[in-house]
Amino acid sequence: MKPFDKCPICGGELVKKEVEKLLRGGRHTAMLQVQAEVCLHCGERLYSQDTVRYFEEIRKKLNRQETSEFQPLGQSFKVEGKWLNKSLERT
Ligand SMILES: [Zn+2]
Repeated sequence: MKPFDKCPICGGELVKKEVEKLLRGGRHTAMLQVQAEVCLHCGERLYSQDTVRYFEEIRKKLNRQETSEFQPLGQSFKVEGKWLNKSLERT
């Protein structure tokens, strides 16, 4: 079942596409490929209810650190502001 025929934001046409979605839960991030309806005009992405439920499951797992089923994709890093200042001093 399609949730929308037209984009609810701008009324543009929607196409089914495979998109990359980034999910955050706790300190973790997961990247996944999902089907979405993408607006050709404004780029708005619409997900089916099942997909949204699936996102919630993954977020919960990330929050609980249940990441053993997921494949590691390198690490995520936080860059602090002072790093920028240091690299500016050098130039
Ligand atoms: Zn749109």
